[in-house]
Amino acid sequence: MTTRFTGSFTQQEAIPDEGIAAAMAVLRGGRLHRYNVAEGELSEAALLEQEFAAFTGAKYALAVASGGYAMGCALRAIGVKPGDRVLTNAFTLAPVPGAIAAVGAVPVFVGVTEGLVIDLDDLEAKAGAASVLMLSHMRGHLCDMDRLMAICDAHGITVIEDCAHTMGAAWKGVPSGRQGAVGCYSTQTYKHMNSGEGGFLVTDDEEIAARAVMLSGSYMLYERHLAAPGPEVFERIKYETPNVSGRMDNLRAAILRPQLRALPEQVARWNDRYRVVEDGLRGTPGLTVVERPEEETYVGSSIQFLLLDWSAEGVQSVLSRCAARGVELKWFGGAEPAGFTSRYDSWRYAPSEPLPASDRVLRGIVDMRLPLTFSLDDCALIAGIIRDEVGAVFQAG
Ligand SMILES: *Cc1c(COP(=O)(O)O)cnc(C)c1O
Repeated sequence: MTTRFTGSFTQQEAIPDEGIAAAMAVLRGGRLHRYNVAEGELSEAALLEQEFAAFTGAKYALAVASGGYAMGCALRAIGVKPGDRVLTNAFTLAPVPGAIAAVGAVPVFVGVTEGLVIDLDDLEAKAGAASVLMLSHMRGHLCDMDRLMAICDAHGITVIEDCAHTMGAAWKGVPSGRQGAVGCYSTQTYKHMNSGEGGFLVTDDEEIAARAVMLSGSYMLYERHLAAPGPEVFERIKYETPNVSGRMDNLRAAILRPQLRALPEQVARWNDRYRVVEDGLRGTPGLTVVERPEEETYVGSSIQFLLLDWSAEGVQSVLSRCAARGVELKWFGGAEPAGFTSRYDSWRYAPSEPLPASDRVLRGIVDMRLPLTFSLDDCALIAGIIRDEVGAVFQAG
């Protein structure tokens, strides 16, 4: 009898009770707008920003409406103008080139390696093409950040980090989002903290921080922030910075504060699950496990493996056989965008040069979510199913 997995790949855990209680208090007070505070009250949004700044070790933090908003806001705050070129990853999700396009800038795609990180040789070759890099730590894989920063520093490139999949991760102990000028995070349901929609940006640069606060829609109420620069910095930029409304509200902030306190514990739980799946897949003929560098502290909220140089039919066959046994895999090699998954050449508003070495990798990337609602036994079962089905198709081919 073949075993089947019956859990859901899209079911996250409930909001912690503490978060539900805090949300109820906000609802009872009726003061959901972040600048609507009672006499002497500090808003949930302002407190969350203070706590997120402390968590990342950044001087300044801003909570916003989404991760995509954080990226667009960061691009504007560092002065990217319509028509500017912005380097970014060919292997990422649609909101990344979307944030670049939203400010009228033009993405220039940099390839992906078999380690699923940005190709630093390709970055070096294209470094003269732009003065900004929107670096996406796609699916939580961190590249050699020392070499990346050396390349960018040598070419005067400002780095914005897309940490949608690396909240809680680190490179040589430095929290993800803290090497570039700005780090951007998402608190959308499928990320590491869940407020439905939401995001953050962090920076140590006082002018970027002040512009971001103004851009997010602070009006002249910026003094109600607890993780923003002093009023003298706002004096310098407040007349020139437009209001591009995208604030976070107190209800979302209230449910995020307890989740931030619990994050280190959640990271450990994700990694327990990741290691069970990784161990189960290791040694499967035809399948390449993506080895993690020693310098990287990762958050295993999803796992990827490669079916390198397989035919499209072979990969499709693995996907459908696994799906028939309840295991939902996503493929980055499909010609047509599907669900959350698309390729750089499907973003037709952004012209791209062919990247043959990256195409080979993309054709082989299989991706799976690991929600915390999975038990360790579930993870072992899932790995066993993938192992069987990859093995069966590989042998037949
Ligand atoms: C989810 C995601 C984003 C954007 O976050 P939203 O909060 O959904 O706007 C950016 N980059 C990557 C890689 C993502 O997965």
